Amino acid sequence: MIELKGITKSYQAGKESIEVLKGINLSIEQGDSVAIMGPSGSGKSTLMNIIGCLDLPTEGIYELDGENISHYSEAELAKVRNQSIGFVFQQFHLLPRLTAIQNAELPMIYSGLAKKERLERAEAALVKVGLADRMEHLPNALSGGQKQRVAIARAIVNEPKIILADEPTGALDTKTSASIMELFSELNHEGATIVMVTHEPEVAEYAHHTIMVRDGLIVSAEPSRWGAPT
Ligand code: ADP
Ligand code: MG
Repeated sequence: MIELKGITKSYQAGKESIEVLKGINLSIEQGDSVAIMGPSGSGKSTLMNIIGCLDLPTEGIYELDGENISHYSEAELAKVRNQSIGFVFQQFHLLPRLTAIQNAELPMIYSGLAKKERLERAEAALVKVGLADRMEHLPNALSGGQKQRVAIARAIVNEPKIILADEPTGALDTKTSASIMELFSELNHEGATIVMVTHEPEVAEYAHHTIMVRDGLIVSAEPSRWGAPT
């Protein structure tokens, strides 16, 4: 489903060009779940942004569902993003003045759906993540775990095939992390392909595979302790 071939990414720093990704080959099947680990600064977020169509590679080929999207325009990428990909971040990235349900509704604002339909879908997503009784709360009135649940509701409201999570439990305590990972596992069992970055081995164990990134290269890829999906 996700096929990266010889992906490089360079950033311009003054006159110098710094190569952050140095030739990534990666294949992720539909329904899989993958944890990306590696030292800080090794290029994990850069890789996630490319997989998530937030950024284009400098070189290489990205095929999504058999379609080469490496040379898509910003408008075409935005469409892929909106239809196929849900994002979750370490710091939640909720809009502070919007309630939980308004935050969850955001990805549908430009979808052309009627307000009633949008609210129904946002409500269903919040019920799904266990926040039926927090719909009208502002982010400030929610715990870290609840904020991340709102972010996950927002990520799944368009029923994306792929969920990308960049250190989704990085700001959460151990117990809350585990409950968030249970939720990701449930979404994965229901068919979503999940790619996440984490520093925590016990979080990576929820994924079927772990990939190690170092200095812009994948240095190893192994099934986790729980084994590959059957
Ligand atoms: P990780 O997520 O593994 O910590 P990143 O992908 O965020 O690593 O960053 C990898 C390297 O790329 C770092 O050295 C970082 O400073 C650099 N980098 C990331 N984004 C940019 C950018 N927009 N412009 C310039 N350098 C960047
Ligand atoms: Mg990062």
